[in-house]
Parts: sequence; structure tokens; C-alpha cells
Amino acid sequence: MSQPTRSSDVIVVGAGPAGSVAATMLARAGVRVTLLDRARFPRDKICGDAVGLDAVRILRRLDLVQSLHDAGAVPISETLITSPEGKRARFIAPPAPAYKRGFILPRMVLDLALAEAAVKAGATLIEEFKVQAPILEDGRVKGVEGITENGGTASFRAPVVIAADGAHSVLVRALGLRPARSGGRAFAVRAYYEGAEGLGSTLELHYIREILPAYGWIFPTGPSTANVGIGVWGGEGESKRLRALFDSFVNEHPASRERLGRARAVSPVRGWPLDLGNNAGRSSAAGLLVIGDAASFVDPITGEGIGTALVSAELAVHTALKILERGEFSERAFREYDRAWRRKLGWDFRGGVALQHLLARPRAVETVVGRAAKDEVIAAVLSSIVGGAIPKYIAFHPLVLARFAFGKRVPVPGPRRRRGAPSPRS
Ligand SMILES: Cc1cc2nc3c(=O)[nH]c(=O)nc-3n(C[C@H](O)[C@H](O)[C@H](O)COP(=O)(O)OP(=O)(O)OC[C@H]3O[C@@H](n4cnc5c(N)ncnc54)[C@H](O)[C@@H]3O)c2cc1C
Repeated sequence: MSQPTRSSDVIVVGAGPAGSVAATMLARAGVRVTLLDRARFPRDKICGDAVGLDAVRILRRLDLVQSLHDAGAVPISETLITSPEGKRARFIAPPAPAYKRGFILPRMVLDLALAEAAVKAGATLIEEFKVQAPILEDGRVKGVEGITENGGTASFRAPVVIAADGAHSVLVRALGLRPARSGGRAFAVRAYYEGAEGLGSTLELHYIREILPAYGWIFPTGPSTANVGIGVWGGEGESKRLRALFDSFVNEHPASRERLGRARAVSPVRGWPLDLGNNAGRSSAAGLLVIGDAASFVDPITGEGIGTALVSAELAVHTALKILERGEFSERAFREYDRAWRRKLGWDFRGGVALQHLLARPRAVETVVGRAAKDEVIAAVLSSIVGGAIPKYIAFHPLVLARFAFGKRVPVPGPRRRRGAPSPRS
């Protein structure tokens, strides 16, 4: 049965981190927002559950961090990176309050909290609504249509639609927007474990020769529970190797044997694709702005995308508010968003792709991790890049390169800090 069309100022499709944060910002700005998701919350999303500092900065501005810690977030205070030959680079962040740190929180909990925050801000959340197509009129997106939880059809209208519907975005496909995935495609799988030992609050990344520049990870979700996973960078075919690689990582890798020797899996091993490092494609059309995974805004070296999802949400909201204020809905007005995200994320993705090529080479990984193991400045740069604290291109800053080449003889001023202030990682 078809339901009457409902209208608002902005429709956000997808209540993942990108969509829920965009909806929260818009609703707080007094805009009428409808947030649509095909799932009913709480719902799972295959992820490593690590929320980096780029995301934390935005969540703090929205005053949402405390509630996420109340919900069980594990603040990260240390990063451990190992090389295939067993070199170990460790970076311990100087003391800082939990709310200023990156953290790990299962997506089942994180995404529910963010969707609830959007509702609290005033957005209308409609669950179990599967968007099937945009409503296109006069060459513009003017809404979406889809299937309701009862199997009926319904449509929603708004002058601005934000596509936050993830890696399989129907809106991106329907509009023929082709993100330039300069970092290629990756696949990753993960499972939750209980009974893990010696986890602490350490983000563990283990580079493995067969899958470089990808890695296996062990991220603590509690004192003895962990999110364990592994990725492969490459096409669809590569994903078939993943299950065997995951088993070998869990059963044979020295770090896993130490942490997971007595642990047991409490979830199936499940995977999801990642489209990496869009740095030049179109992420807008007349009436439409695309954010998060739907726009392939995923870090080309770590596969992290929550931070860039939130950064792009903020940029899209900024453009949407301007468009609504001016009442100008031309394609040109929406293109402003493309310029904004390219300025903010484009170079970061380019730096990430350059690092991705570097880390695909086993010798280079040994050198980088080996150097970080001996030099706390290189370890801090590496861990800040992994933790979303600084842009990737900083790895190619002449001072960092000089320090890398000539060691401690080259003093590198870290990000300027007040005495007692947190490090870039925290
Ligand atoms: C194995 C793995 C590990 C990862 N680990 C990390 C990590 O540790 N840290 C990190 O930062 N990133 C990580 N990522 C990436 C991260 O998961 C994504 O970048 C992030 O989820 C992007 O958020 P999003 O809101 O753009 O999309 P999503 O989280 O995918 O949300 C999209 C939403 O849209 C909804 N939707 C989809 N289609 C429709 C439709 N047709 N109609 C209505 N609703 C729809 C979905 O139900 C979903 O709720 C990992 C990814 C994988 C695969």
C-alpha cells in the first residue's frame, strides 16, 4: 500500500555515524530533518569499532562524548604496531582525560547512541525504511522513495537530500556519481572475542606480509573482550582469501596467541567492503550531498572511516544550511560541498594513498616500524596518523623525513603543546 508523501527541509538517508551526526547538527540548527534507515536500531555494522581523534573532536563539539563513555567506550592510551618480522613500535600517550582520547566502542552501541542523539535534537527517525530511488524532477533530486517496514511504498520530499547510506549507496548508483577511489577497494572481516588476556587500552595493529599494506588488529572493547579483524586491499577476488587469513591471524600470529590463546569467539566472522580515499570524484548533484562511506571517504592506509564520515557530515551540513538560507537549489550551490571536502580531505587522502603504496612493500614496513620502535618522535607521528590526530601528508613533511633519515640528530617539534596538555594521540 502506498502512503502519502511526507516533507521536511532535509532528508538524510542512512543513520550510521555520518547520517546521525549530520541529522543532529541540522536539527540543532532548527532545520526539519527526516532521518531514514533500512535497519531497526540497535543494529550491528561490521567495523573495528575504533573512533579516532578526528571523530572525537566533532563528537566533543556536539557534547556527545561523555554519554559514549557512559555507554562503555574504552579510551585508547597506547598504540602498538608490529611488523611482519616482529619489530614492535609502541607509543604511550601522555596522560589526558578519557573524553579527549580516541576510543573503542562496538558499533551496536555507538550507532544507537548517535541515532538517539539525532532524535533528541529533534530529527524524525524512520526505521526499517529501505530507500530504493531518488525522486528526480527538473534534473534535481527532490526526495526519495522506498519500501516501508510493512512492505508498502512511501516517499519523502525535501529540497536537500543527504546520502549517508554507506558503501552500497543506492543514491550514488542512481545518480551515476563515481567517486574516484584512488586508494582502491578493500575488504575486511571481524569477530568479537571474550576471555582475551593482557589487552589494556591498546590499539594493536599487526602488519602481515601476505596482506600488506593491510593488517590484522586486536582492539579491546572491555577488560577481556576484543574486536579482532583483518583486511585485504584489493578487488572482489581478494576477499575470498580473507577467512583463511583471519583464521591464521587468530591462531598463529604471536600477538593473537598471547592475547587470544584462551579466548573464544562470541560472534560470527563477518566482512564488509571499504572504498578508499576518494580525492577527486563528484559527491554532489543538484539536490544531493553524499557523505561518509557512500562517498568513499575511507582512509587508504587504516581503513578507518568514522572520522571522515563525521568530517564530511559537518561540511555537508554547512553547505545545506547555506543552501536553505539562500533558497538557491541549483547544481552550482550543491557543488560548493565538493570544493569544501576536497580542500579538507583531498590532500589527506592523497597522502594516505602515497603511504599505502609505501606500506605495500615489506622492506619499507620493516624500516618504518623498526625506526618507530627506536625513535619516540617517529612512533608519535605514526600513531598520530593511525589515530586520526594529524593528516597523513604530515608523514612527508621535510622535518619528519629528515628525522626518519638522520634519526635523533634532527629535532622535530611535535604539535605545539602546553605543559601537561594531551599529546596528539589523546
Ligand atoms: C571490518 C571493518 C573494520 C573497520 N574498522 C574501522 C575502525 O576501527 N574505525 C573506523 O573509523 N572505521 C572503520 N571501518 C570503516 C567504518 O565502518 C565506516 O567508514 C563507517 O561505518 C562509515 O559510516 P557511514 O555512516 O558513512 O556508513 P554506515 O556506517 O555504513 O551507515 C550506513 C547506514 O545506511 C543505512 N542504509 C544503507 N542502505 C540504505 C537504504 N537503501 N535505505 C535506508 N538506509 C540505508 C544502513 O542501514 C546504515 O545504517 C571499518 C570497516 C570495516 C568493513
